[in-house]
Amino acid sequence: MEKPKLTIDEMAVFCKRKGFVYPSAEIYGGIAGFYDFGHLGVELKNNIKKEWWKTFVQQRDDVVGIDGSIITNPNVWKASGHVDGFTDVIVDCKKCGSRFRGDTLIEDKLKIPTAGMPLDEIAEKLKGHRIKCQKCGSELSEPKKFNLMFSTNVGPVQGSVAYLRPETAQIIFADFKLVQENARLKLPFGIAQIGKSFRNEISPREFLFRMREFEQMELEYFVHPEKQDECIFIEEVSDYELNVLSAEMQKNKKNMGKLTIRQCLSKKIIRTKWHAYWLASMHKWFVELGANPEHFRIRQHVKDELSHYALDTWDLEYEFPFGWRELQGLSNRTDFDLKQHMEHSKADLSLFDEESKKKILPHVICEPSQGVERAFLVFLFDAYSYDKARENVVLRLHPKLAPVKIGIFPLVSNKADVVKKARGVYDELKQRWACTFDLSGSIGRRYARADETGIYATVTIDFESLEDDSVTIRSRDTTEQIRVKISELKDVLTKFMEGEKLGKLGKSVGVK
Ligand code: ATP
Repeated sequence: MEKPKLTIDEMAVFCKRKGFVYPSAEIYGGIAGFYDFGHLGVELKNNIKKEWWKTFVQQRDDVVGIDGSIITNPNVWKASGHVDGFTDVIVDCKKCGSRFRGDTLIEDKLKIPTAGMPLDEIAEKLKGHRIKCQKCGSELSEPKKFNLMFSTNVGPVQGSVAYLRPETAQIIFADFKLVQENARLKLPFGIAQIGKSFRNEISPREFLFRMREFEQMELEYFVHPEKQDECIFIEEVSDYELNVLSAEMQKNKKNMGKLTIRQCLSKKIIRTKWHAYWLASMHKWFVELGANPEHFRIRQHVKDELSHYALDTWDLEYEFPFGWRELQGLSNRTDFDLKQHMEHSKADLSLFDEESKKKILPHVICEPSQGVERAFLVFLFDAYSYDKARENVVLRLHPKLAPVKIGIFPLVSNKADVVKKARGVYDELKQRWACTFDLSGSIGRRYARADETGIYATVTIDFESLEDDSVTIRSRDTTEQIRVKISELKDVLTKFMEGEKLGKLGKSVGVK
């Protein structure tokens, strides 16, 4: 299997150099786990979120969105279990005071999975294998639990503790009844949200992979408790194929296998049709936006790894340069959260079932929960390529994701009428697409700069353009060029952006 071409550190360097991502406030030395997105990064990130929202909210009849607050009533986090249980295991260096995640130290040293490993076993392994401080090599303290929520005070009152949300999901549960009633939703239905989450990770690392402030795209899909396997959309994905690693395969030390959704269901590898449907839909979303399906697999959580609220969880994983890692978690959360919030708030969150004339509490049959920045990394890794012939990096991002779609270049910068004509084209095209106007350096240099930042097409205006009102369009991916009239430019670029071959859209003038 072809691996990503860059290491994660090289990707961080590329992202900084090209204006995608910077360490936050680097002039002050930055702050671990926090990043700022630059002029291209903000566009790519917004495009990812826009595509997700379009696919899973706007183009569906059964899903609506919300935008909840980051700080909410702290009782939400008591009910959800985060105040008591949202912890990782921490160990301190007795000499230099550095802090580490106990389970990660074990994973790194012993190369064994630690998901769900209890505190006493972590302590025993750290001691038994004489694992020391990674910075100075000294003794480590006894491991203890560390709550990952950031807390703050609300208003000028000391002790009025509230939390920055560690996930977006709970706001959906807290608002469940209002959203359902006002949007007149009937089961099955989903409520989605995109927004910031905060986790005081003990050791943020691997660039954007583990941050302290990040964004999530989450969807809670609710079904009737007695109709948990009546998935009306399953036929859409039955023949869809993906790499699968079930809990059983992991137990028997088997490798992942390629299976269709139909096979996963008939062999009872995936428990419900809804879970299978959402796994395939999320995988497909990445692939349709240009990611390589061979870099993905779905992996079921083994028993010890399951969260307290989950009946079954599958992760959509991606093969990062540092190994297979979770990209998105898809859990069957049952009615756990609604029950918890009913109990703690005393509000009635049940729905009236017209058929049985009884009150029912819906089940979250699947919660696909995706980190925006992990998706950001995936699209960059899969788009990044080095073109030997061009001796240049080409960032082959899908046109829907490319931060800038079109570059407009006057062939020469010292001829006022060519520049003026090019500006006219730029003013027109930027009404519809994210464009850039570049007149510095040779045309070859400008093409190279455009390729490296993923600009999907470039439009060059030359002396001939002054006479016949035609321009040259160049494709980033093939370097093919065609000549078209300015009056046809928008139509041609629209078709090109929608996937038509450039050669079919105008008179070919070769490859450059
Ligand atoms: P991990 O095991 O990697 O810590 P998790 O199981 O705690 O992840 P979830 O709580 O399921 O993660 O969160 C859903 C998604 O949010 C993850 O799949 C990931 O894409 C994203 N995410 C979670 N924590 C972080 C983080 N610290 N930095 C960036 N993205 C994150």
